[in-house]
Amino acid sequence: MTKINKLANYIGGKWIPSSSEQHELVTNPATEEPLAYVPLSSAEDVQLAVSAANEAFLEWSKVPVPRRARILFKYQNILIQHWDELARLITQENGKSYSEAYGEVQRGIECVEFACGVPTLMMGSVLPDIATGIESSMYRYPIGVVGGITPFNFPMMVPCWMFPLAIACGNTFILKPSERTPLLAARLAELFTAAGLPDGVLNIINGGKDVVNELLSNSGISAISFVGSQSVAEYVYKTAAASGKRVQALGGAKNHSIVLPDADLGLAIKEITSAAFGSAGERCMACSVVVAVGEVAESLVQGLKEVASQILIGNGLEPNVFLGPVIRQSHKEKTVSYIEEGENENAALILDGRTANEANRVGYFVGPTIFDHVKPEMTIWQDEIFAPVLSIVRVESIEEAVDLANRSEFANGACLYSNSAKAIRYFRENIDAGMLGLNVGVPAPMAFFPFSGYKKSFYGDLHANGRDGVEFYTRKKMVVARY
Ligand code: NAD
Repeated sequence: MTKINKLANYIGGKWIPSSSEQHELVTNPATEEPLAYVPLSSAEDVQLAVSAANEAFLEWSKVPVPRRARILFKYQNILIQHWDELARLITQENGKSYSEAYGEVQRGIECVEFACGVPTLMMGSVLPDIATGIESSMYRYPIGVVGGITPFNFPMMVPCWMFPLAIACGNTFILKPSERTPLLAARLAELFTAAGLPDGVLNIINGGKDVVNELLSNSGISAISFVGSQSVAEYVYKTAAASGKRVQALGGAKNHSIVLPDADLGLAIKEITSAAFGSAGERCMACSVVVAVGEVAESLVQGLKEVASQILIGNGLEPNVFLGPVIRQSHKEKTVSYIEEGENENAALILDGRTANEANRVGYFVGPTIFDHVKPEMTIWQDEIFAPVLSIVRVESIEEAVDLANRSEFANGACLYSNSAKAIRYFRENIDAGMLGLNVGVPAPMAFFPFSGYKKSFYGDLHANGRDGVEFYTRKKMVVARY
């Protein structure tokens, strides 16, 4: 029997075992093989990391910006060299297909590339004459120790929304990765150290709620970046703000894709299939509701069913597999109960993914599932299911479609499939969502733009990435001077 590795915490440049006796098993969701034990670390473990990060901050914040940028350039290069290894690790611990994992590594690297521009991003500004002989200027500084709490669904990309930019701006960082996918984070830290990052600048504390609660209340931490489900995002926002911290908390989603009769139907079906069932629907930008407008409905529904029925399900490391497992058996059970709920609510189940696992009992698989004739009163329309389950609502006009999407409590993304400039303008001006796709299925912005959800999809003021990220991870001094 192979011995299962117990993960440690990364504090001050050393791998230190957690003081907690509690551990959880990390399993490969496609094979159910154990990959490691992850410690559910204690508040004391977090306090050690806070001390190390505060100590490191004294020097790191004084390292000249071009030297910090040079370490990030080196990190980018090392990540490129390890691209395949990182993608495989993502597939093993998360379950998504290798090609999606490969794309995720690219998204992570792009965040590092954005952070390499920190000399320009950190610049202040000056106005030489605000009054006769008086000048005013703005200087930008790091804020201190930042805590990052991340979800299971993007083990590389989401941590990379946070720590490369925060660190480039001169902060030090404590990352608490998802306890369900902690392996990639450990590798990211090792590779950053190999790029020359000084000890204590990036620390990792593994665990769950106890670690989060200590990060939210510890006075040695200045800001919290959170990405995860809606209820935890709201809790993190309120709790960290109550202890005087700057917070950005990105929550769940229920993204609508509206298809108009003039759309390129082949393109819409291809993009929606990929957005709804790729990464097993475990994406905050997944398409979970299609709104079919007018006479497009019949051919759209038939097309989606036909294409989704042909999706290859399996271990994401095998060639051509498109749909991997969901993350855990408990998540599979929750998904199955949503499918039952949809049937009880009298939505028309036209493709049932519950049988996907029959041929292969191992792994937490749910096949592509499609409900037609879904209504906004139904739970399957309202809740984020976070699995390969797609709801189709039929309406008669673009106005009705936009109204329906706007009734969701979430406002992360929304897509429109149409070739009409007038319809596209109407959608852009009236839809209540932060990231819009026009004939594009997953409109996730690149690292130099903000990841811009709102309503219950986001709590805070400054989003992750782009200039918002720089604002979030820096504070300004204003100087008014008479010489
Ligand atoms: P989750 O909320 O269960 O976990 C996220 C993090 O919070 C983890 O590190 C976890 O350990 C911690 N956590 C969980 N429960 C907690 C509690 N009660 N108290 C304190 N900490 C707690 O989310 P998940 O299942 O890992 O990720 C999926 C969710 O993340 C989905 O809702 C998805 O939409 C969302 N997400 C959002 C975005 C976005 O940009 N808006 C991006 C990715 C994922």
